[in-house]
Amino acid sequence: MDQNKIPQATAKRLPLYYRFLNNLNQQGKNRVSSKELSEAVKVDSATIRRDFSYFGALGKKGYGYNVEYLLGFFRSTLDQNEITEVALIGVGNLGTAFLNYNFMKNNNIRITIAFDADTEKVGKDIGGIPVHHIDELDEKLNDIKVAILTVPAAEADIITNKLVEKGISGILNFTPARITVPKHIRVHHIDLAVELQALVYFLKHYSLDN
Ligand code: ATP
Repeated sequence: MDQNKIPQATAKRLPLYYRFLNNLNQQGKNRVSSKELSEAVKVDSATIRRDFSYFGALGKKGYGYNVEYLLGFFRSTLDQNEITEVALIGVGNLGTAFLNYNFMKNNNIRITIAFDADTEKVGKDIGGIPVHHIDELDEKLNDIKVAILTVPAAEADIITNKLVEKGISGILNFTPARITVPKHIRVHHIDLAVELQALVYFLKHYSLDN
């Protein structure tokens, strides 16, 4: 099926579904109801049904969905057979944590290279990943298309420009800076401080009961 036809909101939920179905499969389960799925991934069942209908998985009443069929679809759609290499720029506290964590529970994404401007860090291996000088980005990035940005906010734009010049496709931006990129490049912005503040604000001002 043509992946481009899946709405973006649906595509974003695929990894969530995939992880849960993979667990079910490992437990030897062959089918799952939309209610069960809904409770596990916290997406309402109408949305799940609509999402699944995009890839031709129509649940049967009283049976639910076939786990293997769905997994087969997700594997090819999410390129589970292919490892996506990711570069990390900025090996500070957050960057170091990512290198050590390195998405080991996820079998299709790996940070394989890191860059920093600090000569104390350059040449080291952190979490088994080599740290190169940022000036070597040009020669060392090769055909890596995804980058995680964990540099200080003031450096975000300049690094982004370098990545764009090198032909990056996607940037996961953990700096508070709002970076600008050409239209064909995708940026996802995660500001942990803002997220945490928003959570605390909601806890203070809104009750979950109403
Ligand atoms: P964090 O913000 O991840 O907690 P930190 O507080 O340890 O990190 P920051 O000052 O935010 O440190 O810098 C993050 C990392 O980015 C540091 O390792 C720093 O050396 C690196 N860095 C700073 N400027 C650049 C640059 N232009 N290119 C690459 N790396 C840089």
